[in-house]
Amino acid sequence: MRLDKILANKGFGSRKDVRALIKKKHVTINDKVVKDSGTKVNLEKDTVRVNDTIISYREYVYILLNKPPGYISATTDNHNKTVIDLLPEAYQLFEPFPVGRLDKDTEGLLLITNDGDLGHQLTSPKKDVEKTYFAHISGRVTEADVQEFQKGVQLDDGLIAKPATLEILESKDVSLVNVTVTEGKFHQVKRMFEAVGKKVIYLKRIQMGSLKLDEELETGKFRELTESEINKLK
Ligand code: URA
Repeated sequence: MRLDKILANKGFGSRKDVRALIKKKHVTINDKVVKDSGTKVNLEKDTVRVNDTIISYREYVYILLNKPPGYISATTDNHNKTVIDLLPEAYQLFEPFPVGRLDKDTEGLLLITNDGDLGHQLTSPKKDVEKTYFAHISGRVTEADVQEFQKGVQLDDGLIAKPATLEILESKDVSLVNVTVTEGKFHQVKRMFEAVGKKVIYLKRIQMGSLKLDEELETGKFRELTESEINKLK
């Protein structure tokens, strides 16, 4: 692991701040003053000190983002801003990735982590992890739609979606619903509503597995998961 990554992670600032610390000879590895911020460190055997304080390290980072519209759920993109761009450099140094994808115009809960095993567990089609979305639908959503979703609607590619739970909150010209699915196919929820002749006009993910979107987290803001949230997800 690079020294600058470790120190940024431990709250010593951005890579630039860390370089400045190193230049001022405040950092040692095994009691030797460090010259290069990119020096590789093995924390199992090397001892890193900043001004005589020994630094420990954590491997993983778990972030809950309330995704705003206009961002791509990817780590890099040539044309668009990505959800990773919303994080400070200290987090980007962990090389985190979004767990599953939300469309560019979809908002809400997005877990961002560098824990590949957890990412796999939550997105594997075999695990049937539930994802709940709040949506505005143009047209009146009916009990018949609820039944269709429960049976499994036929998508535009001919595949039958797995049974999903549709809860009608308001049925009007623009209906409000919660929908819970266990799949994560491309445009899953939008295509399920198309299958019953309706259009999603607003989509926000509010839950994935045991993890709920924090009501206090404004759109575009993020926070780290609590220990308890991490343990429940695993
Ligand atoms: N289903 C969709 O159609 N879009 C999303 O972003 C997520 C689920």
